[in-house]
Amino acid sequence: MELCKYCKEKEAIKNSHIIPSFVYEWIKVTSPTGYMRTTDEPNIRKQDGLKSALLCLDCERIFSKLEDVFKKEYFSKVANYRKSCPDVLDISVDTIKCIYIMAWRALAYALYFPKENEYTDVEISRFPVLLDEIKNAIETGGFTNFRTHAIPCTKEVLTTLNLPKVPWHMYERSVTAEPRVWDNWERFVLYIQIPFSIIVFEIVPNTDDPWVGTQLENVDKIVLNDIESVPDYVGALVNHFYKAFVDSNDEISDVQRKKMTEDIEKADPNCGSFKTMKKSW
Ligand SMILES: [Zn+2]
Repeated sequence: MELCKYCKEKEAIKNSHIIPSFVYEWIKVTSPTGYMRTTDEPNIRKQDGLKSALLCLDCERIFSKLEDVFKKEYFSKVANYRKSCPDVLDISVDTIKCIYIMAWRALAYALYFPKENEYTDVEISRFPVLLDEIKNAIETGGFTNFRTHAIPCTKEVLTTLNLPKVPWHMYERSVTAEPRVWDNWERFVLYIQIPFSIIVFEIVPNTDDPWVGTQLENVDKIVLNDIESVPDYVGALVNHFYKAFVDSNDEISDVQRKKMTEDIEKADPNCGSFKTMKKSW
């Protein structure tokens, strides 16, 4: 049996998510097909996001309460096709904790279920200490070791930040969570894209980077008009994931493409996904 990687006491369930499951639910409900596709296996229609034997049921239950707060307080206000994003978003300690949980899960996933990656053995050997520090922050609410940034993906915010004008589905309908190291550990961030938001968790905080108006620790709200700048690597990552999308889109077979077209023809013309498709810069 696999032990829970968080409490290290109970048996892990097989279907722990990295990104909360309500995010995948939202994508399915607002999509014309009711399915999702991933860039690594574009020809398979999926019902759910990436899962692994990471946590036990008890830890999942504790985390799901925090995820509910994040959903109510942040996600459903930002990812909303009927109402536009409010100018001010309240941020509570539980919302910050929920993001720390995503960071913990993504880093733990990279450590315990390694796939092809570019981490060196020395880098990997530092992961356990970092995971313990993130866990400590989740348990105590002491957010001094890390920095988290939220970028609500409205047209105004993305334009102010000069982020790439890629098709809107990249900002409004894609999901990514990837730890990335650069510059010999000057920068080690977890880049998270969820619908209508980019979240960057600085695992190794870099105080020279020009973040303005985005940081969540020690604030009780985010004011969209105060978001003025983010480091250049954010735009580079948007372009990187867009290229991965384009490459994987090229691999979709004719049979699957036909299925997609048929599904789209049958779909409710008011579904959210179509609003994203029609949106222009
Ligand atoms: Zn556990």
